[in-house]
Amino acid sequence: MTKKNPEPMTDPKKTKKSRKRAKQKCYKLFRERVIAKNRQYYENRKNRAIVVVNEKKEKGCSICGEKRFPCLQFHHVNPKEKKYTIGYAIERLGMEKLNKEISKCVILCANCHFIEHSKERTPNAKIMLS
Ligand SMILES: [Zn+2]
Repeated sequence: MTKKNPEPMTDPKKTKKSRKRAKQKCYKLFRERVIAKNRQYYENRKNRAIVVVNEKKEKGCSICGEKRFPCLQFHHVNPKEKKYTIGYAIERLGMEKLNKEISKCVILCANCHFIEHSKERTPNAKIMLS
């Protein structure tokens, strides 16, 4: 003899209302956990951004001495050592990896940064820059 409609897996003592309440409670706990996790992520990211801002403000461009914050950029001295961009490290990586990446960089203003990279790309950059 086979059952066409097997019994539901739920406890018959529990009413529809009590199951709904249990689901709501579970959802609320889950939601609180997600909110707490997000809050922690944004707090950590903010702290990493503060480190980067302070680094730029303190040092300025290492070639021309430019101090205006919006035009300062991180330049990897040895491109082969570059693992991440600093922006990526702020977004996704921990403070330790960010500091390690910053240690491979010098701070340059946008103009000096472009000039540095043009030296790498263009073989006759010396002619263009003189
Ligand atoms: Zn500069």
